[in-house]
Amino acid sequence: MTGILFIVAAPSGAGKTSLVAALLQRDPKLRLSVSYTTRPPREGEVDGRHYHFVDRATFQAMLERGEFLESAEVYGNCYGTSQRWVSEQLASGTDVLLEIDCQGAAQVRRLMPEAVGIFVLPPSLKVLRERLERRGTEQPEAIARRLAAAQGEMRRVSEFDYVIINDQFDEALEDLTSVVRAERLKVARQMERHGRLIESLTK
Ligand code: GDP
Ligand code: ADP
Ligand code: 5GP
Repeated sequence: MTGILFIVAAPSGAGKTSLVAALLQRDPKLRLSVSYTTRPPREGEVDGRHYHFVDRATFQAMLERGEFLESAEVYGNCYGTSQRWVSEQLASGTDVLLEIDCQGAAQVRRLMPEAVGIFVLPPSLKVLRERLERRGTEQPEAIARRLAAAQGEMRRVSEFDYVIINDQFDEALEDLTSVVRAERLKVARQMERHGRLIESLTK
């Protein structure tokens, strides 16, 4: 049985990293794909856990060898998802989550239309700005750039299967958990998982 591929995308500051981290804590069966990036590590970020931090030449060589399922340039840095890791996990029946930007999400959906797209929105632009400011990981110019990009990204909401408004964090986390749970309960998947039971009950 192949695993389910979940894609979580959102404008920067909407809360996807916080939501995904909380979801992964609750759900040990779900594994996060660790992206490759040319961005330097932020304070507290660990190589191999938050990202695989690589230089531009290494990233470019991986791109040319076709090692990325998708890749994109976001705010001047390159990001990419390992094709091999994702396909191995899915083939072994593990559910995988990609936390990637909208450009990457669109690439994956084209290649794997069965992937489940989840978009996270902030409750308002004002709150989005406040969260980026409070997080304090970007300079004011970088925050302005992320806010300007956010509106364009949010227009792509209809490309996704689910949308979660991250206003009250716990509620948004329940929403995200419910999406994962519901996808696992789809008839086609339950037929695979509980084929013998369903057959015996429907004989
Ligand atoms: P964030 O804005 O706080 O989430 O900052 P990050 O540096 O963690 O992420 C920057 C952007 O790159 C976000 O839009 C991520 O979703 C995106 N991103 C992260 N990993 C990948 C990846 O493997 N592929 C693509 N295409 N985008 C990624
Ligand atoms: P993203 O990964 O989408 O850029 P983060 O998860 O880093 O977003 O969240 C941006 C900031 O907003 C962080 O400082 C985070 O702690 C905070 N945050 C996330 N969700 C909420 C929420 N529901 N209410 C208040 N603050 C939040
Ligand atoms: P940050 O540099 O702030 O960690 O991430 C900036 C953006 O890049 C975020 O929106 C993040 O989701 C996205 N991102 C991180 N990894 C990937 C990736 O592998 N692919 C794509 N397409 N985007 C990514």
